[in-house]
Amino acid sequence: MKFETLCVHPNINEDEYGAITTPIYQSATFIHKDLNYSKYSYSRLSNPTRNHLEDLVMKLEQGKSCNAFSTGMAAITTVFKLFKSGDHFIASSDLYGGALRLFRTLEKDNYSFDFVDTSNLDLIKSKINKNTKAVYIETPSNPLMIVSDIEKISKICRENNLLLIVDNTFLTPYFQNPILLGADIVIHSGTKYLGGHNDTLAGFVVTNSNKLGEDILYYAKTIGGCLSPFDSFLIERGIKTLSLRMDKINSNAKIIAEFLKTLPCIKKVLYVGLEDNPGYEINKKQSRGSGGMISIVVESAEIAKRILTNVKIFKYAESLGGVDSLITYPMYQTHADLPIKEREEKGINECFLRISVGIENPIDLINDLKEAIYGDV
Ligand SMILES: *Cc1c(COP(=O)(O)O)cnc(C)c1O
Repeated sequence: MKFETLCVHPNINEDEYGAITTPIYQSATFIHKDLNYSKYSYSRLSNPTRNHLEDLVMKLEQGKSCNAFSTGMAAITTVFKLFKSGDHFIASSDLYGGALRLFRTLEKDNYSFDFVDTSNLDLIKSKINKNTKAVYIETPSNPLMIVSDIEKISKICRENNLLLIVDNTFLTPYFQNPILLGADIVIHSGTKYLGGHNDTLAGFVVTNSNKLGEDILYYAKTIGGCLSPFDSFLIERGIKTLSLRMDKINSNAKIIAEFLKTLPCIKKVLYVGLEDNPGYEINKKQSRGSGGMISIVVESAEIAKRILTNVKIFKYAESLGGVDSLITYPMYQTHADLPIKEREEKGINECFLRISVGIENPIDLINDLKEAIYGDV
């Protein structure tokens, strides 16, 4: 079955009433029909609605196992339970702020991290030591849109017996399949494009092996950050339109990125779908789209303020990946917990904004930005 069809028809086992959508099994516990076996026993371990969604996401990412979590952060936290004190990791220096915050807290437990520009393979190689266990990347990264070569990094990982963990939230399995490129573990914030409507939090971990899948399930049930049946239903419903939304978001983002490049008050437009982006070629090689995330550097804090306070269709709000277009001020929101020096070095300052393009009409979106910057035109 092709991707779009699978998104709409994940139903493998119809229920006894022939329901078209997956029923919400809102039950914490299940009757044991046999003395020593029950397919379901307790919803922290497994639940039919959640399992159905997990099976779908596993197939979309072409993995061997999938577990669904209450948030993306719960998913990432559970993955790091695979490791122990003394282990060393190499991670992209540009990452979702919450992942960076988690890694800082793990440093207190004697996990150690080297943060490097993972688009540079030599830098990755130079940091590998005898305690290194995994490489952790986002591509494109948040918010600088740096592209890392998944296939080449996976080769380095295999040669050195390291796991490659890829956060695929930005491109989704519709555009990019890290497991096919050699990744061992794929993470999603399902809150974003998979859910797609800014109404539900969720996270996923997909693995390329049954053994890793068993380990993740063990820690998932032990830590308990699982996705509820109702939220599983909402994410599965969101996924039905994933391909339509991603196509529209992709084409809108290209139009808006090109428009933003024409404005003199915007100094830089970071979008992996623009040919002048340093990651353009590699992204094109390893994915089927550029997604909907654009970062911009505006001329002054005054322009940033004007945009954030005057937009009417775009909303000044955290998060991304929904049908509605949002603008984020990373220095006050997603990356507020970064040490100031580090944030400044990366250029995440008062002139830096991140845009998540939605599915509205692109002309309305362009006019909204124009009016916010220049007043009624
Ligand atoms: C939002 C996000 C996360 C965290 O997900 P939550 O669902 O908010 O916990 C992780 N990675 C990326 C790339 C994100 O955008």
